[in-house]
Amino acid sequence: MEFSSEEASYEFYKSYSKKLGFDIRKAYRHVYKNSNEVLDRTFYCARASKNGKDKREVNVKCPRAQFRCGCPAKMVVSAHHSGNFRVMKFVVEHNQVLSTTRKIHLLRSHRKITHAQAARGVQVISSGVVQGHEATMELLNEFGTVSEYMITPYRTHHVNVITYDSSNDSVVCSCRKFTFAGILCSNVLKVFTIKDVLKIPDVYILKRWKTNAKVGCAPVIRIDEVRDPKEAVAVKYQDLCGLSQQVITWAS
Ligand SMILES: [Zn+2]
Ligand SMILES: [Zn+2]
Repeated sequence: MEFSSEEASYEFYKSYSKKLGFDIRKAYRHVYKNSNEVLDRTFYCARASKNGKDKREVNVKCPRAQFRCGCPAKMVVSAHHSGNFRVMKFVVEHNQVLSTTRKIHLLRSHRKITHAQAARGVQVISSGVVQGHEATMELLNEFGTVSEYMITPYRTHHVNVITYDSSNDSVVCSCRKFTFAGILCSNVLKVFTIKDVLKIPDVYILKRWKTNAKVGCAPVIRIDEVRDPKEAVAVKYQDLCGLSQQVITWAS
């Protein structure tokens, strides 16, 4: 079996996998050193090989289920001197249960977003209303550098008002999530997206979320380990200082 190009062989394996109900991925390929032309290419069932060890394992409470199961199914195509790609190896067997027809569209390589869906993602309407698939945003007021938006999440009547000042990238949302939780709500992120603010301003990333969060914190010494009463008072004072620092951070 031959294909006119590497891409054509990929399209073939993709449509084959769609009919059978499995996901695929492009694996390794070899190229000619000088010309960078493709020598051969392997396409795998997406569940081929095994997931590597998660290095964050110690911090993860509910690790994600292993997706890869060492499935042997694959197709290898190799460049022929005629310019076509020939199938050199084709393993049909899978070691996982294949998807049913109804669920095939959920597999990564067979997901397709229509133009209509893409357009609905962020649709700017001339009236000043921006409609996303999960919320509607309306421009209420604009005076100078300050803009006021109203966001209504999809299928709810709950309204949030966001005031954004482009002169200093300051933003206030009526839900006050930043005040209580120290993180920005999704409404504010929507406004940032509309306003082309691609990086969250530093003032909205509290020290507690940064890698240097613990820098400046005093080491913990248990008070019952200290025998000298004067030293115990000092340790107690140090503890209280640490606690007050945390309270200040929470309040900020
Ligand atoms: Zn498989
Ligand atoms: Zn909010």
